[in-house]
Amino acid sequence: MNKLSFFIFLTALAFINLGDKVARSEAPFKVPLQTRKEWNFEKEGVQFSNNFSGARLNDCTFLKDNVYVATITPENSPINRSPWYAFKITSQKKQSIEVRFLLTHPGAASKPNISFDGKKWKALEKDKWTAANSEKKTLASAQLEVGPNTIWVFAHHPVSLDDLNSWTNTLAKAPHTKITTIGKSLEGRPIKQLAIGNPDANNFVFILGRQHPPEITGSVGLMSFVDTIAMDSPLSKTFRNNFQTIVIPVVNPDGVEHGHWRSTLGGVDPNRDYGPFTQIETKAIRDSLATIAKLPKARVYLFLDFHSTFEDIFYTQRDEDQTFPLLFTKRWLNGIQEHFPDYVFKRDPGHNENLPTSKTWAYKTFGCAGITYEFGYNTSFEKVRVIASGAAEEMIKILVAETASR
Ligand SMILES: [Zn+2]
Repeated sequence: MNKLSFFIFLTALAFINLGDKVARSEAPFKVPLQTRKEWNFEKEGVQFSNNFSGARLNDCTFLKDNVYVATITPENSPINRSPWYAFKITSQKKQSIEVRFLLTHPGAASKPNISFDGKKWKALEKDKWTAANSEKKTLASAQLEVGPNTIWVFAHHPVSLDDLNSWTNTLAKAPHTKITTIGKSLEGRPIKQLAIGNPDANNFVFILGRQHPPEITGSVGLMSFVDTIAMDSPLSKTFRNNFQTIVIPVVNPDGVEHGHWRSTLGGVDPNRDYGPFTQIETKAIRDSLATIAKLPKARVYLFLDFHSTFEDIFYTQRDEDQTFPLLFTKRWLNGIQEHFPDYVFKRDPGHNENLPTSKTWAYKTFGCAGITYEFGYNTSFEKVRVIASGAAEEMIKILVAETASR
């Protein structure tokens, strides 16, 4: 090797080294993605697929005549025990098959919702579902009628990214609504924000949704709540004159796309990241909302974060934790109960400084009530819509009265 080529060799080596370091320090961690594919069981003429947005099916095997095992693995662990799964099955001939659900991590698969067109959904009949039994060491299993018309088998009736995008875009056409992109997810999906109401109003309500991908009734509740704010009624118009409602319908679009149980693509529970702010998604939300709250004369009256869990419940501050407006939560929940006297829901008041949830961050940062608004996984969409709309009306009544008295 002559001097010149040795020099080139050294320079190249340095660059390779440098490139390696840059890549290592800058490439953010991503959870491993499931492989999107079709599983073809040719002899049986049956095909399983996870090749679509929101799917989760990590493996599929043929066990014995008419019996298949679907393996479901979360994106990382430890993780919340609320498994999400979603796959499609097609069969050349009409036949009855059994699908057993093998969960590789703790959690219980819920009875699926099924569809034959992706639009109309129904719960699988009770007598076609057997829950897992740990004593007998048997898996949960579903008896399914399959055929040339593809059957969709989902943990819950889905609300997809497409559904949420078309809802957002429709709403954004209203004259009092503006849509912006406040950032991008780790995989480059836009994080959209709606601003509804008089752009000169200094009073704000902040609303988040879909931090946790499988929490679909939370999405349904958010849409109905926001639709009520945007509707053509005297009460809503007065509210929009006095308030801007800032809505971020999908905090975790990558998680929804990849059928995650809980995390961002970066492998972090976004609703434990409002403090560390390690994720590009939560940072975008912090920066957008904190910037709005710092505008001259801006006043934040309420922060709501829509989720789903096993019951209808509000996670709130305690009444002794002073908020602006004073005792908003107590007054609002009383209003909801009066609006729906037979509606059964819970309130869990608490303030854990060390749990970096959005509600705690919002309360500390804006001084308003920060509320995690949870609907049951199995509360019907119709009921969620009615309750969320009534809850929006009750919020509007209180906040309009607050501004009138100022
Ligand atoms: Zn949640």
